[in-house]
Amino acid sequence: SPNIDGRAGERSKALFADAQRSIPGGVNSPVRAFAAVGGEPPFIKQARGCELVTEDGATLVDYVGTWGPAILGHAHPEVVEAVCQAARDGLSFGAATAAEVEFAERICGLVPSMVGGMVRLVSSGTEATMSALRLARGFTGRNKIIKCEGGYHGHADMLLVAAGSGAATLGIPGSAGVPADAVRDTVLVPFNDLDAVGAAFEANADEIAAIIIEPVAGNMGCVPPRPGYLEGLRQLCDQHGAVLIFDEVMTGFRVALGGAQARYGVIPDLTCLGKIVGGGMPVGAYGGRRDIMEKVAPLGPVYQAGTLSGNPLSVAAGLTTLRILEQEEPHEALEAATTTLCAGLAERAAKHGIAWTGTQVGPMFSGFFRSGEVWNYEDAKGSDLERFARWHTEMLARGVYLAPSQFEAGFFSTAHDAAAVQRTLDAADAVFELLAKG
Ligand code: PMP
Repeated sequence: SPNIDGRAGERSKALFADAQRSIPGGVNSPVRAFAAVGGEPPFIKQARGCELVTEDGATLVDYVGTWGPAILGHAHPEVVEAVCQAARDGLSFGAATAAEVEFAERICGLVPSMVGGMVRLVSSGTEATMSALRLARGFTGRNKIIKCEGGYHGHADMLLVAAGSGAATLGIPGSAGVPADAVRDTVLVPFNDLDAVGAAFEANADEIAAIIIEPVAGNMGCVPPRPGYLEGLRQLCDQHGAVLIFDEVMTGFRVALGGAQARYGVIPDLTCLGKIVGGGMPVGAYGGRRDIMEKVAPLGPVYQAGTLSGNPLSVAAGLTTLRILEQEEPHEALEAATTTLCAGLAERAAKHGIAWTGTQVGPMFSGFFRSGEVWNYEDAKGSDLERFARWHTEMLARGVYLAPSQFEAGFFSTAHDAAAVQRTLDAADAVFELLAKG
């Protein structure tokens, strides 16, 4: 029978030891180090469909999906072929191409806030949010921004306050090296609390340039917006002349083809994209209202640039991914399959008396080790993190690769079939039983 124990074996351990000599913490992004769950991370050799193969030869069901992009599963043949074809014509020109025009038009056609507007390509989600905020500040002539506690929008200075994701996982919700001045204009509010946003506007009258928000939070674990929350943000921004920015780096093309804004019917002024838009290659994008986007250089006075922005390989991967999503319309089936998984997990947790609060929006989900509802970062932090760590390790030992942090979402893909779900539920049943024994 195939090896499914995904815990680091001899080879991964040796590689991790080597890695630590030349790379800080042995990883190129902090959460990959498994600091919150203990043990060494397995090194990944290959990924296909819903499975990862580790350097130790284990085959795992993957719910990280390269942190969101892999909605079609890994190494989708058409996406890989498009990238190979593009590569043969040159890796990067740093000049205008026909494919990026097609890509921009496809993105603008799919994302409601960009219909009739414009989009600019960058190379990461971090660049997208950083650029959108500069633009919002340039457009309004105001400096202050509002963000949520536990919201993660990349690692730009002004956004590294009470940040979620790796910053939350490692217990460093800020960062050394961020000058106090850089975050002085960042106003914090709890997620899902409209009164707090109203109060922030009152306290900073005519000074708020923008609200930046994950419309479905994904970096405190998956936390849906309360009914009316996004509509309320829209109203407050209109009332106070602030730019509403949806950071849909995680939710874009995932919680619906048109993202959270399509799912909830609330249209922001600007939208940030990443992850799925690049189909696994480094791509980010920001765009929206034409009158705002017209302020971006070379049309306007807000500077933003990138040597590799819109490079042909990234565009090929992104374009092909979006084309497949548009043609195959998998979102309804994805949601149904994810619901089956989440219901199965909740049922097994209950069977073994494990306190567990499941959340799900489309093919994005979390399970918090606590009872009661989870509507914000405080609630998420009320989870039993030790229990989560054990859950993670034991699921990995049984062939299920989950994000190594309570403060991350899980991602389902079109490549996850009934067998993968069953494998996951069988593992969960055994692990919940183990956890119940203490
Ligand atoms: N915004 C959100 C909502 C994210 O989830 C992330 C990354 N997880 C980012 C921004 C930053 O994107 P990147 O890691 O590509 O810079």
